[in-house]
Amino acid sequence: MLVFKFGGASVKDAAAVRNVAQVLGNFEGEEILLVLSAMGKNTNLLEKLVDAYIKDLPYQNLLEEFRTFHLNIIAELLGDDAREFYEVDNLLVELECVLDGDQAGKDYDYVYDQIVPYGELVSTRILSHYLNHVGLRNRWLDARNFIVTSSDHRRARIDWSVTEDLIGRRAFKMVQKQLSITQGFIGRTSSNAMTTLGREGSDYTAAIFAYGLNAESVTIWKDVPGVMNADPKRFPDAQLLSDISFKEAIELAYYGASVIHPKTIQPLMRKGIPLHVKSFVDIDEPGTQVADHQRKSVIQLPCYIEKANQVLISLASKDFSFIIEDNLSQIFNALAACGIQVNLMQNTAISFSICANFDQRRIEQLTDMIGDQYHMDLTPELNLFTVFNSHLDDEVKRHLKGAEVLLEQKTGNVLQWVHR
Ligand code: ASP
Ligand code: MG
Repeated sequence: MLVFKFGGASVKDAAAVRNVAQVLGNFEGEEILLVLSAMGKNTNLLEKLVDAYIKDLPYQNLLEEFRTFHLNIIAELLGDDAREFYEVDNLLVELECVLDGDQAGKDYDYVYDQIVPYGELVSTRILSHYLNHVGLRNRWLDARNFIVTSSDHRRARIDWSVTEDLIGRRAFKMVQKQLSITQGFIGRTSSNAMTTLGREGSDYTAAIFAYGLNAESVTIWKDVPGVMNADPKRFPDAQLLSDISFKEAIELAYYGASVIHPKTIQPLMRKGIPLHVKSFVDIDEPGTQVADHQRKSVIQLPCYIEKANQVLISLASKDFSFIIEDNLSQIFNALAACGIQVNLMQNTAISFSICANFDQRRIEQLTDMIGDQYHMDLTPELNLFTVFNSHLDDEVKRHLKGAEVLLEQKTGNVLQWVHR
């Protein structure tokens, strides 16, 4: 069993969908489970729709944009045969029913999870139907029947024992000897409310299925040649990392290398299932292999990782007393309760600084929780620049030239700067 993951960019328009069919054509006869994301930027679009909906602002234009985007792709892919393809119409009606329903008093994260998964539900229906149409027989699977999670909406945690059992017992039989298509990113609670695993969570879904199915390998198909030692758009000399250990992949993903979702590696590592990151444009290129290596460090090159949209939160107690253990546990509990993802921390005698992913709602929640006890200084729109496996080299100096550095940290072979 091979598990493939295709992201939004791989199905961003009709030509891209045709290319996915072409890639799959090279694997005819293989047993494959394909995990798919929402098409193009439709998750962002649905997020905008949720924001408008929650604030009681008009959202019909956004819904219309979502509808026409998909209907246009269907028309282009199927031509006259599009008239006999109803699944997407049904899903669009279902989505409208959710929006017409009474969500008053419901929490934002919950409402988000009842709406945003339609991106994946629709994309998988389209791809599955199109592949059948061109002779690549496949079966559509509903990921919600197998991925069971906590009710932490928008960042749901996997209920591993239930999920492993469902995948092993039910999905295993359904995916035998064929191509199957399912949704990334989505799951459900034990009481059947939809949940999502966090943005870019489809890689994680692929790893979860691979784990439960004891797959041979996972391949993430990308529009880049594989995992590079820097973003080629920003660092023209970026090089491909052809071989990475699981431990290094976890580190790179943690520091913000956006090619692999941070949670993806753990389940694969536990079962020693190798991960390939390959280009869907140039499928003969070898790409990157992430596998178990005896040696812990395989990467020889320095890696440069820039994480944008960061906020620096500096906390000081109102009476300027030391930030001690009691304060720290209170601060950490609040951060966890608000679901704020911390990327770097530093403390001095009277202040504690955190560099975190910026999320307006979560930051407001944090201010509500601890704002009356601490001076909270927020600096948004920052970048976190990490160099893994290196010292202060010329590349770093060039990159940081003229930047205002707010915080700097060195841990082992990792250097980090929070800068503007
Ligand atoms: N569609 C979701 C997102 O854009 C999940 C994913 O792409 O992995 O975040
Ligand atoms: Mg996506």
